[in-house]
Amino acid sequence: MSLVTDATVGLEQVEVLVDADLIQPYLQDASGQSAQTVVSQVFRPKNTQELAAVVKSCHAQGKKICVQGGLTGLAGGAVPSADEVVINLSRMNQVIDFDTVGGTIRVQPGMVLQQLSEYVEQQGWYFPMDMGSRGSCHIGGNVATNAGGNRVLRYGTMRELVLGLEVVLADGTIMPMLNYGLKNNTGVDLKHLFIGSEGTLGIISQVVLRLFPLPERRYSALVALTGFEQVVELLRRARGQLAELSSFELMWKSYLQAAADQLKTQAPFDAEYPVYVLLEMEGKDNPETEALLTQFLEQSLEDELAVDVILPHSQDQAKQLWDLRDAIGEILPTMKPYLAFDVGIPIAQANDFVKKMEQSLSQRYPGSKQLFFGHLGDGNLHLSTGPHEASILEEVEHVVYQAVAELGGSISAEHGIGRIKKPFLHYSRNEIERKQMQALRQLFDPNDLLNSGRVIDNN
Ligand code: ZN
Repeated sequence: MSLVTDATVGLEQVEVLVDADLIQPYLQDASGQSAQTVVSQVFRPKNTQELAAVVKSCHAQGKKICVQGGLTGLAGGAVPSADEVVINLSRMNQVIDFDTVGGTIRVQPGMVLQQLSEYVEQQGWYFPMDMGSRGSCHIGGNVATNAGGNRVLRYGTMRELVLGLEVVLADGTIMPMLNYGLKNNTGVDLKHLFIGSEGTLGIISQVVLRLFPLPERRYSALVALTGFEQVVELLRRARGQLAELSSFELMWKSYLQAAADQLKTQAPFDAEYPVYVLLEMEGKDNPETEALLTQFLEQSLEDELAVDVILPHSQDQAKQLWDLRDAIGEILPTMKPYLAFDVGIPIAQANDFVKKMEQSLSQRYPGSKQLFFGHLGDGNLHLSTGPHEASILEEVEHVVYQAVAELGGSISAEHGIGRIKKPFLHYSRNEIERKQMQALRQLFDPNDLLNSGRVIDNN
């Protein structure tokens, strides 16, 4: 690893927006939060050198920086404050190299996830990271927040998919860590400090990703179940019997109904059931693989684990099922002011948590709606609750996080901490951990310029 400072690009070469009208789209993200004031400048660099020039100039002037990707974050991390300039990375959206033999790709951070997926699929490769915001979220944001999504069960979180990084440090120094191999035990693996630290230690300027051979076909099924015990048993069997199980998404009744209403489609089953699982398997496109899933589902019905099953007969029909699962992005705006929780709960406790929250939130806050869904295979639940009076949002957060902490869970499983969850970090990180995180911030950004006020303060 070597440190490079490139001074060949001047700040005057970088695109910068200063008109209030043009700046407007950069003042809010998907968390529902927006900036209280119009910021003065939005820089839109197109390569590492331009990015480094902006950071270097900010560093020299002591200007704070808000780093932005696709603005799909739900923790408010990309919302600028009045004393910040914005660096938006959407113009840094190019592929730098693509190794179609070894299956790696190096991209700029502003590449949209879906574009990357489609790009590699054209060459028979597969990037398995997937989530509802795929059409807008950026690879750089996925790395900075260590995104999870629908296929973590099989492929892991973003951390497992990143082979190498290049970052721009707080003083404008470019630090390449452009590793391409899966194995590299040469001391501390510094890239992991930047994965999941939400732009507080450096700005990701390039990413090397690990690809997989493109599966011939994806098989989905929607399963209706009578209770959580059945869900857990179905998961256990699916993991044992469907070697290529890639998703196991759980939706509670109220969520599926809200999703169908939102999409103005009929609920998928004629009757209502307490819980539903949307599962996905990948593999060869042949009758044997299809039969494996069909037999698995038939056995589940026979053993009364499942009460009803929809096995789509076309990719279009499968997409309709996934649209229900992804509808949360469209439901949330109708619940404003809402809170979108993303908690990690041990699977054994997940149902107790849901019951407890459903009861206590509905009782305490009549008129609010509670929707639950999640990636059960990863012990990751999403609870969306709203509308709430803006003044009591923090109280609601304490109620939920207290319950999470009592179960030994995590206050964020995949969305990150940002601004919104920062006051609650202590529920999931002890004092020693928090001190070490602060020390790292001090080390990488002693002047507190990068995404200040997010995740944790530097002292
Ligand atoms: Zn999720």
